[in-house]
Amino acid sequence: MNFKSKPSKRTFKKISIDKYIGLHKKSNPDTDTAVLKKSLTHIRTLKLQGQKCDCGNPIWIIGSAFAGMACFTCITGETDCSNDYEIK
Ligand SMILES: [Zn+2]
Repeated sequence: MNFKSKPSKRTFKKISIDKYIGLHKKSNPDTDTAVLKKSLTHIRTLKLQGQKCDCGNPIWIIGSAFAGMACFTCITGETDCSNDYEIK
């Protein structure tokens, strides 16, 4: 038997839209939460419908709300998303 270890899968911390908006508002008090909620909800719907980044990865809802429709790696240039949130 070969127990070659798989590369560890790094995953987002999952958070609800309302919880995320609460967190975001704390560090960005000027945020228009109604607008933010609307765009997060809209992008989440697109993701559920299968919207993909240009590179083929699933889009990152939170990042896409600020930086335009793209995946985590295309927005941040990083592959480790374990310290970042994603809408559940
Ligand atoms: Zn991408």
